[in-house]
Amino acid sequence: MGLKLTGKYMFKRKITIQFPEEKTPTSPRFRGLHALRRYPNGEERCIACKLCEAVCPALAITIDAEPRADGSRRTTRYEIDLFKCIYCGFCEESCPVDSIVETGMSHYHFENRGENIMTKPMLLAIGDKYEKEIAAARRTDAAFR
Ligand code: SF4
Ligand code: SF4
Repeated sequence: MGLKLTGKYMFKRKITIQFPEEKTPTSPRFRGLHALRRYPNGEERCIACKLCEAVCPALAITIDAEPRADGSRRTTRYEIDLFKCIYCGFCEESCPVDSIVETGMSHYHFENRGENIMTKPMLLAIGDKYEKEIAAARRTDAAFR
């Protein structure tokens, strides 16, 4: 019986994925590492409304803000503690300007104490680096949002 089963599957298409060289597809709704996005003119989207900070059930987000010289309100500090975060996605759902998002990135690690705190420059840098992928994922999912 065992040999019969082996013979049955021997010539079928293989479904084994050679991870990590090969990746399995991920949903555009996948909730991985966070990022802060900018508008195409380079201006940061975040308007420091603090809705994400208020909605976060894990109290993982810390925001300080003050008005700029031009009168616009911007964050002076935006931090996410990834040890506290439960990747629920509430922050991105609550954001009125599509600023804080969760990317498709799930492969990251920490080597030193304190690296779990994602600062504003780190989050903006991730947003800058992966903007194409972030925008494509949101376009794919736009009809369901
Ligand atoms: S994904 Fe959830 S737990 Fe993590 S920072 Fe956003 S709201 Fe907080
Ligand atoms: S990321 Fe979005 S929800 Fe959070 S403070 Fe900025 S604009 Fe408000």
